[in-house]
Amino acid sequence: MRLAFALLPALLAAQPYDLVLNHAHVVDPESNLSAVRHIGIAGGKIVAISPTPLTGRTTLDCKGLTAAPGFIDLHAHGQDEENQLLQLQDGVTTALELELGAADLNAWHSAREGKRFINSGASVGHVPLRIGIFRDPTQDLVPSGPAKDNAASEEQITQLRAGIERGLLQGGLGLGFGIQYTPGASRWEILEAFRAGARFRAPAFIHIRTMGTPNAPRPDALTGLEEIIAASAITGMPVHMVHATSSGLRQAPRLIQTILEARARGVDISTEAYPYTAALTAIQSAIFDEGWQNMLGITYSDLQWTQTGERLTAETFASYRRTGGMVVMHMIPEDVVRFAVGHPEVIIASDGFMRDGKGHPRAAGTYSRVLGHYVREQKLLTLETAIRKMTLLPAQRLEKYAPSMRNKGRIRVGADADITVFDASHIIDRATFQQPALPSAGIAHVLVNGKPVLLNAAVQHGVHPGQAIRAPGR
Ligand SMILES: [Zn+2]
Repeated sequence: MRLAFALLPALLAAQPYDLVLNHAHVVDPESNLSAVRHIGIAGGKIVAISPTPLTGRTTLDCKGLTAAPGFIDLHAHGQDEENQLLQLQDGVTTALELELGAADLNAWHSAREGKRFINSGASVGHVPLRIGIFRDPTQDLVPSGPAKDNAASEEQITQLRAGIERGLLQGGLGLGFGIQYTPGASRWEILEAFRAGARFRAPAFIHIRTMGTPNAPRPDALTGLEEIIAASAITGMPVHMVHATSSGLRQAPRLIQTILEARARGVDISTEAYPYTAALTAIQSAIFDEGWQNMLGITYSDLQWTQTGERLTAETFASYRRTGGMVVMHMIPEDVVRFAVGHPEVIIASDGFMRDGKGHPRAAGTYSRVLGHYVREQKLLTLETAIRKMTLLPAQRLEKYAPSMRNKGRIRVGADADITVFDASHIIDRATFQQPALPSAGIAHVLVNGKPVLLNAAVQHGVHPGQAIRAPGR
C-alpha cells in the first residue's frame, strides 16, 4: 500500500478501496487469525486487513458475521449455471472438476468464458479420454460400453498418453482418474498414464479401482489405495484419493490412516470427503456390475432413484439399468462420515452434480452442512479447523502445480478477494434427498475476485467475475 500511495497521490484523494468489509470476525487458516478485523479490497485483491474500520466506495457492515476465504471445492462435477448458483449460495468461490476432468481443456474453458459466477477449472481426464478413444456411446459422465470393459491396445495407450500431454499443455490442473469406472484399464495402462502426467509433475485426482471392506470376495478398497500409492512411488506423481468415505465405507478410517502413514514416508498424497451418508452415481456404470450388493453391503431398497425419489426393487433396478440415470446409494455409516469430516487432514469436497433440480444434496449443501451441522450442532470440530479443510488445504493441494492457487484459500494482503461472509450461528444446509436443490441458509455475502455475487443473501444475477483456473502448461 505504501508504494501505491507514493506513486498515485490522486487515488489517495479518492477512496482507496472499492469495497470494505467492516467488523467481521476474520478467520484465516494460514496466519491462524481468528479475530475482528476490517478488510479493504481494491482491484479484485485484498489490500488491507486493519484493526480499525476502513472506508471504501462500498462498505458492508459485517458485525456478528464470520469472514472466511471462499471455499474451494476440488470435486465438482456440475459445471454449469445451475450448479454454480447452488455452489455460490453454499459459500464456494472456486469449483474444480478434477476427478473426471475433461478431454479437451481449451474447449472446456471456452464454453464457460464470461459465464462464470465463481472460478472454475478442470484436470485432463483419463475417463473422458478413454470414452473418446473407445467411442463409447455413454450419455453419462462415466462409460457403460467399451470404454468401461475393454483393455487398451498399445496403440490406444499411446493415444491416451498423447491426450494427457495435450491436456496438461492446455493448462489442465492435473490428471483425473475414475479407475473403478474403467475396470478394463489394466494396472499397466494406469501406470502409463501416470508416467505421462509425471513428466509435467502434475497431481492425480483418483477414484480408486476398488471399494468397500475386506469381507468382500473381490479386492477391497485398500487394494485400490495401494495401487495408487505404488504408482506414485514409481513415477513421482502426487496423488489425491477422492471421497474416502464412499470408497472405503467401513474401511475408510483405515484408508485415511494408511494415507497419512504413506505421506510421513514421503509420498505426496491427500484425501477428501463429503458430509453425507449416501453416495451418487450412474446406474449403468461399472459400480453396478454383477456382485455390487456384496461389494457395497447394500441391496435394492438402499438405492434411491433421483428422478422420482423412489426406493428401488430388483425389477425397477433392472429396468433403470437399461435406460440409465443417476441413483443415490445409502451406504456410508454415520460414524465413518464423522471420522472423515472431523479429521483435520481430510479436505472437504462435494462431489456435487445437479441436473434440473435432481441429484444429491451435496451439490447444494456440503459446506453449510459441515459448518452448521458438524461444527455448531455436533461440535465435532472447531470453526477454524473446518474452514482450513475447505480453503487452505485444497489451495495447497494445487499450488505447487498451479501457482495461481497461492492467492486463494487465504485472507491475506495480496490474495484474491474470494471471501465468504456467513452467520456462524445460523448457517445450515437445507438440501435433502427429497429436495436436493434447496440452497443453503445463513450466508450473507460471497465475493469472487472482489465482486459480490451473493449480497445480503441474494444472488446477483448477471455478475460473472469468476475466472478460469489453469496451470501454466509447460
Ligand atoms: Zn467418484
